[in-house]
Parts: sequence; structure tokens; C-alpha cells
Amino acid sequence: MRLFRFGQPGHEKPGVLLNGRRLNVSEFGEDYNEAFFAADGAARLRKWLLTHGVACPAVDKDERVAPCVARPSKIVCVGLNYHEHALESGMEIPKEPVLFLKATTALAGANDDVVIPHGSEKVDWEVELAVVIGCRASYVSVQRALEHVAGYCLHNDYSERAYQFERAGQWVKGKSCDTFAPLGPELVLAGEVDPHKLRLWLKVNGRTMQDSNTSDLIFGVPFLISYISEFMTLVPGDVISTGTPSGVGLGFKPPRYLKSGDVVEFGIDGLGQGRQRIVAYVDQRRER
Ligand code: ZN
Repeated sequence: MRLFRFGQPGHEKPGVLLNGRRLNVSEFGEDYNEAFFAADGAARLRKWLLTHGVACPAVDKDERVAPCVARPSKIVCVGLNYHEHALESGMEIPKEPVLFLKATTALAGANDDVVIPHGSEKVDWEVELAVVIGCRASYVSVQRALEHVAGYCLHNDYSERAYQFERAGQWVKGKSCDTFAPLGPELVLAGEVDPHKLRLWLKVNGRTMQDSNTSDLIFGVPFLISYISEFMTLVPGDVISTGTPSGVGLGFKPPRYLKSGDVVEFGIDGLGQGRQRIVAYVDQRRER
């Protein structure tokens, strides 16, 4: 069983992928949010499906695929967590994880359009493995860290490099624009996948840009959860994005950034994939 959400922004509904079928489980009465994960929602949903699954309608294939979790309290990102990517970024290999936050309003579906912010010229891609927290984590040990995971999914940590590096302050400006956090298409439940043996890849207009494996992570998932939980409390539904491998646009000589009309395809073997069009920002105020 895998979890996904579908429907237009603001009207998303929960679904499950079960035995090759995509079922609308709105009747279960819960979205995939903090309360759902905190109360062992996946196990309860699995049990509910035993008696109610046959009555669940199928999800139409034309429905928009939404972010696979409802808006979490935070998206915690890890920077420079692959050797080659740190080098291509001109940065030192970090001695401990680099952390930054990404605004949760950046969440999008894995096939949604990515909007280039107004006046922006340096939008870049970053395919990443994301971890969704299943239960409250504060000062957890490395040994017990994985007990706090609900599941894993695909994330693309889109980044505006001028906002990130050339504007005063820290990275959050370059990471938080609307549509910069496509998450999904599905949440694969913990225990069904080894988070350190996953191939992840990304193509721009059909050309492979990133092709790596989570076995190359500098800091693995248990260490990251334990480490982050020393600085903040992770609550159910929170997302940790574990960092991107080499092959981002920033690393090209000269850098290669996204422009309107580009198509980005990305995926993690076993977790699913996304396909997104890059579109120009349209100033709503000017249109009025
Ligand atoms: Zn990233």
C-alpha cells in the first residue's frame, strides 16, 4: 500500500495505491496530515481498507497528483550531503550537516508546472530523497531514529541561485518560492524500502543531468534525524530532504539554468517519478 493525494490545490483528497489500483479513500475521513501520522494512520487505514476497500471509487487517471502529504509544520533540508555536489558548488565537505528550512507554501505536485519567480534568471534543479516523519522526535538516538519515519518520497529542491547566494542573508530566499517543492507522487511506507540503496536521477529536456545513488549520502537518514532532533522537534508529517547529488545547473561551466518551456523529469527508482514544465511567472497585478 502506498499513499498519494489528488485533486486541485486546496481541494486535495487522500488516495491509496493498492494492488495496482488507485483508490479514493476520502471516506476514511482523514487527510495525510500531522494528526493522521501521529495516530498511526497508515496502519489504521490498512485495516479500514479490509472492509471498505471494495466500496472505494477509483481515482481518474487525469486527476492532478498533489503533494503526497498535507502541508507539514516544516520542510528541513540538508545541504551539501553528497561529496561531488559539495565540490561542484565550490564548497567544503561539511563536518556536520548543513541545515536550512524551506517554506511549506512551496509544496507542489510532482507533475505540476514550476513557476520561474518574477525577474528570476537562475532557477536550478535538485533531485532528492525526502523522509516523512511518523512520530514526534526530540533528542532521539541514531539507533532509534528510523522508528520515527512514516515513509519516503521523491522531492525536487528547486533553488534560485541568485536569491540563494547573491542576496543578503541565508539560503531560505532561494529555496522557498511557490512551486519549488514538488513532493511525491507517492509516499512509500517505512520498512518497504532501504533509504540507502536508491538510485535517483534527473533529466532536463531528455538529457540526463543527475544520476546517483543514496548510498553516496555523506550523512545517512538515521544520523540526520538524530542530528536535526537536537535542534528542533520534528512532528508527524514533517519532511526532511536529504540533499542532492552532483549534476545541478550551478555546477556547469557556464552554469545552466532553467527557462520557460524546459521539461524536467526526475525520479527515484522504487519511489516513482515526476515530470514538470517550467513556466514563466505571470504578474497577476498587471493583468487586472
Ligand atoms: Zn537541496
